[in-house]
Amino acid sequence: MSDPSTAAPSPDVPPWRRRRPVVLSSAAFLLVSLLTALLPGTAAAQLPQTVVSLTFDDDNADQLPAAQTLQAAGMKGTFYIPSGFVDSPDYLTRADLTAIAGMGHEIGGHTVTHPDLTTLPSDEAKRQICDDRVNLTNWGFRVTSFAYPFAAAIADSEALAQQCGYNSARGLGDIQSRFGCADCPFSESMTPDDKYYLKALDQVDNTWTLADLQTAVTNAETNNGGWVQITFHHVGGSDPLAVPVQTFDDFVNWLKPRATTNNTVVKTVDQVIGGTVNAAVNGPVVSPPGPGVNGVAQNASLETGSTNPNVPACYMVGGYGENTPTFTTTTTAPNAQEGAKAEDLSVANYVSGDAKLLPTFDLGGCSPSVTAGRTYSLRAWYKSNTVTQFAVYTRSGVGTWSYWTSSPYFATSSTYTQAVWTTPAIPSGVTGLSFGLNQFNNGLLTTDSYSFYDTEGAPNPAAAAPAPAQRSAKADSSAISTAAGDGALASTVPAPPEASTPVTDTGAAYAREAPTGDAAHHSRDQRRGPAPGTVLLVPGPNQVEPGTPVVPLEGALTG
Ligand SMILES: [Zn+2]
Repeated sequence: MSDPSTAAPSPDVPPWRRRRPVVLSSAAFLLVSLLTALLPGTAAAQLPQTVVSLTFDDDNADQLPAAQTLQAAGMKGTFYIPSGFVDSPDYLTRADLTAIAGMGHEIGGHTVTHPDLTTLPSDEAKRQICDDRVNLTNWGFRVTSFAYPFAAAIADSEALAQQCGYNSARGLGDIQSRFGCADCPFSESMTPDDKYYLKALDQVDNTWTLADLQTAVTNAETNNGGWVQITFHHVGGSDPLAVPVQTFDDFVNWLKPRATTNNTVVKTVDQVIGGTVNAAVNGPVVSPPGPGVNGVAQNASLETGSTNPNVPACYMVGGYGENTPTFTTTTTAPNAQEGAKAEDLSVANYVSGDAKLLPTFDLGGCSPSVTAGRTYSLRAWYKSNTVTQFAVYTRSGVGTWSYWTSSPYFATSSTYTQAVWTTPAIPSGVTGLSFGLNQFNNGLLTTDSYSFYDTEGAPNPAAAAPAPAQRSAKADSSAISTAAGDGALASTVPAPPEASTPVTDTGAAYAREAPTGDAAHHSRDQRRGPAPGTVLLVPGPNQVEPGTPVVPLEGALTG
């Protein structure tokens, strides 16, 4: 038996012993060591406390089993929920959230539709943060903690998180790990300097091992404890942000006894931050457009660019299926119907699905608001060597987006012409719309000058619509088949050859999608800035049935 005062620490000696402050004499060191062995609970309580928060972002459905694993281990996690995603395919449902809260876990907010808050006008950012908290509160949850989508925040975002009633808001990537932030501390303070930008580890992705998770904890334990927030997106599955179920389970099993042996405990964010539940605050309401007012209030003519040079501000790219779309904002003046810019959408390798540009799925900053029961005139100017149609999506009062319907086809046109279509009456519960002309064949579609009017008081369309094509089978079978639409569309002109190719769902939906998480591909210094210039992809006609909620997923822009 070696002398413990001189022997080198063996691998199974708790690492804190090697990192105790030098003020401890070797005799005191030995005493503490003996106490640890004999009275682990008592000795552990003398160690600096490490608090681990296990947090789960984005409402992914595979987090429910993880919540159950934590429950079995007596641990409580924090689930940051974009309320507009709830009940969508592959996402947690309201019933799931109720079950998770029933296990004692915390439900936190993560905005309604997960936008990059740093790119939004303050009003829309406030709707995103506040209305999410209102939704979650209305569903019966105690909501005090918030996390920034993409960990992107500016001073205004922090102020809004506070104004909306949150007690804290979390960033990502400001704690040291092998994944970055080499000059950062190993833990956040239990009394953080900035409660509205909490320092957390980089998000866990599929490059994290069990050892990485353990090291995140032991690094804090051996450096005077503190608060370690670990962020998961998927538990199981093949997503780049997934941790294997086995790794997660092993980590939980490893963590559990450390309350006794290392004074390391698991708490929710709310348990660490404390404080009372503030009243829910509504974000500013966007009214539907009045008579004669264009509801596409922002960037109707596509003149303003965004962080992505080929996607105009206030628009997003939708699409699904197997095809290769290329979006290009063209600045060659003759190409624009109005102003200097228009949007080219070229599709190649077409097999299935569609692609389109449409006002961003938001809470009214870009997408027009509507009144249930009224009808609206959708308009956009286009040139195209293929047929096209409006794909139309609805926003619910919660802020969930769903596919609604599609217009009849509009014919090819080598010169600018205006596509005009009147919606059926807006269903009850719908508060906003988004719409875009889609491309579902190989070819080139150029669009410009989007407008949206309440049919009461709408200006006359600027030009006659082109000779129409036959309605698609999908449109014929949907509720809109009884809608009159605009006069020129009620035609019997046969479909052009392009339109005779049926749009089929091959089951390869979202083939282009590469979902990313909150801080993906950001270096730490960029975290507070805009998210990367990705595009949002949504399904459309022939992909989902009307009423199906759709969550735009991020993908790379082709071209
Ligand atoms: Zn997120």
